[in-house]
Formats: sequence, C-alpha cells, structure tokens
Amino acid sequence: MNILVINAGSSSLKYQLLDPDTGVLLAKGLCERIGIDGKFTYKPQLEGKAAQNAVDVAMPTHSEAIQAVLNALIDAENGVLSSMSEIDAVGHRVVHGGEAFASSVLLTDEVMKAIEQCNPLAPLHNPANLIGINACTAVLGDKVPQVAVFDTAFHQTMPAVAYTYAIPYEYYENDKVRRYGFHGTSHRFVSQRAAAMLGKDPADVKIITCHLGNGSSIAAIKNGKCVDTTMGLTPLAGLPMGTRAGDMDAGVMEFLMNKYGFSMKEMMNILNKKSGVSGVSGVSSDFRDLEAAANQGNFRAQLAIDIFCYDVKKYIGSYAAAMGGVDAIVFTAGVGENGPSLRVAMTEGLEFMGVAPLNAEENGKRGDEVDVSGEGSKVRVLVIPTNEELMIAMDTAEIVKAL
Ligand code: AMP
Repeated sequence: MNILVINAGSSSLKYQLLDPDTGVLLAKGLCERIGIDGKFTYKPQLEGKAAQNAVDVAMPTHSEAIQAVLNALIDAENGVLSSMSEIDAVGHRVVHGGEAFASSVLLTDEVMKAIEQCNPLAPLHNPANLIGINACTAVLGDKVPQVAVFDTAFHQTMPAVAYTYAIPYEYYENDKVRRYGFHGTSHRFVSQRAAAMLGKDPADVKIITCHLGNGSSIAAIKNGKCVDTTMGLTPLAGLPMGTRAGDMDAGVMEFLMNKYGFSMKEMMNILNKKSGVSGVSGVSSDFRDLEAAANQGNFRAQLAIDIFCYDVKKYIGSYAAAMGGVDAIVFTAGVGENGPSLRVAMTEGLEFMGVAPLNAEENGKRGDEVDVSGEGSKVRVLVIPTNEELMIAMDTAEIVKAL
C-alpha cells in the first residue's frame, strides 16, 4: 500500500510517500515559499533516482504544490511510482481536533466543517491544514480517500482533573478553554514502540514519553491512554522550549506589558519567539549550540540547559505521582534522541523512584531504539526515534482498509 502523508503549513508543505505495512519510505520532500517564489525539494529513497533540492517551481497556491509533488512521484526518470493510481490514500496531519476528534478520521464534508470549527483554537495551523486537504482533493479528485490525523486526538482521554484550568468554569463550557495537548501522534507512536520493547501489552504499562525537540512536551500514558500532558490550549504551555517560554506566572505578562507598553501581540511574540532556552541563553534555540557555548564557560547557556533539564525531571516526577508509578521513561525527538548528556541530566537523582543512573555505553549509541537503563533500574529508560509520518500512514491505512 502507498500512503502519501501531507503536513501543510501556511506557506509550506512537507510530504512523504510510504508503505505503512513495511514502514518503507519511497520518497519525501518539501514545498516551500508557496504563494511567494516556490521552492521544491524531492528526495526519492530508491537507488539511482535523482533528488531535487530547493529548485524553482511556480506554486501560487497549495494546489500547484501538490501537483508538483505528484509530478515528481510519477516522473518517468526519477519518480518512484508509475502512475497516480498507485497512491492508495492520503493522510493529513491536522493540528487541532478540539473535543470533536479523539482519533483519526476519514475526511468528509462534515469532518471538514468540524475541523473548521476548531480553527479558533489553532488559527495559524488548522486553516493551513484545511488548505492542504482541499488542494489534494482538487488535484487527486474525490476517489482517493483522505484521512485526518490530529495532534490533539491522543490526549482526549485525559480526565477532567488533568484538562480543566482553574479559571471560571464558563470559559470551558462556553469557549472550550482547556488543556488539549499536542505532539499526540508522536507520544502515541513512541509509547506503542516502548510497550513492544518491554514485551508488554500497552494496556499493562505506565509510560512517561518525553518529546523533546524544538517544541517539547511530555505525556503520562497509563494503560495505553494519555492521562496528562504538558502542553495546553496552545503549544506554548509546559516545558521551556527552543524559543517558547512554557509555564510561567501569568502575572509576568501584566508586569511587562505595563512597564514596556507592549501590546498583546508583542507580548505573545516575546513568549513564543524570543523566550525558552534561546531567551535565557541569548545564544541559540539549538541545544548543540547551547552545549558548545556552555562548554566554553557561557553561564547563561548552562543555565538554559539546566532549567530545561530541571523542568523535564520535575514533570517526570509529577507524572509518576499522577500515575502511581512508572514502568518506562521514553526520550524522543531531536533533543531526546540525540542528547546523551542531557538525558543523563534529566534522569539523575531519580534513584528514589527506581531510575538507576543510565548505562553510559548504551546511552552513547545513536540512531535506533535503545534501552539506556542502568543496571538494576526498576524503571526502563528508552530512546525511541519518533516517526509521526509512519503513524499517520498506519492510521490512514487502517481506516481505508476498513472502507
Ligand atoms: P526536532 O524539533 O525534533 O527536529 O528537534 C530539533 C532540535 O533537536 C534542535 O533544535 C536541537 O536543539 C536538537 N538536537 C538535534 N541534534 C542534537 C544533538 N546532537 N545534540 C543535542 N541536541 C540536538
């Protein structure tokens, strides 16, 4: 089966063509500067096929971008398919499904309307996701089934005690203001892989998944269901991130807005784009740069790393408390998969809850699923590369096969 996975943004579109049954990736790439000057990247994964890197392709709208993707995929010389009919279905990443979607769903007119109703909850992302879906329908027609896979869906199992904010209840009742959580596809994927690595049924384990990348979130997953997560109504909550502040006293906003006359837009820009480890360090949002600067004695770079690791550790402890224990802690995404010394810092001192110091040799390995737990550790510590596109393709295949 061939599933085209699409992640559409307002002026960009990432794509992958893969087989959900084998996990084999056939091609991937990116359309950038849609509506501007159109740059197209295509990376076929079959030997002897030539890639294209940020070449000029006119893409006034997402429809031309999708058309460019299809042209590349079926190109006689460098394509990986012989015709468009070999695409069995399309899976779309959709950021916000609100309370309407607790799992992936076949796209219909009604579903499109329900997604549109979630637009106010993710005004930068959902409209772009919808544009991507409409562009696929325009180019592929309505014979090719399309599926929406939501970032928020996996977290819909959270109980009210975890998702309700302590603000007047009518804002939940009338406006649906609550914790939703994001990165759900990643948390679901790595928690399933973790259960497999433990040789257990997901329904029998308590797992804390740490998705630590440019954006970061942690989830508590009890018996296969998410019971808490760090991101909230928006992806600004929880851990400090590359440039996002994460949790802080809301009174800070009033203080700074009064003192410097910031508008709400300026304040949100500071919290989203100028904060996090970048804001604290003044060096970079990239942990590689931070570690290099800290090694040169940069105090603020070290402080930014320390704050990040301290917060991850605090959430691990609090989620173990929330679940009444934990069987495995999973690290994934850019920082989680590639930062061995950060993993040490994020787990040291947790012996009291059964986490032994990490196995240095295993923790030094890279690229694959690794159990980095130290000797005698009651809690397994696992590094699992995330693969959201594969999860989207697997969901899409499951829904399409049942049609
Ligand atoms: P992601 O959002 O999952 O693509 O993660 C991107 C982030 O991963 C980058 O901004 C880096 O901070 C981090 N990262 C990537 N490689 C490394 C590495 N070797 N060591 C530490 N952090 C890394």
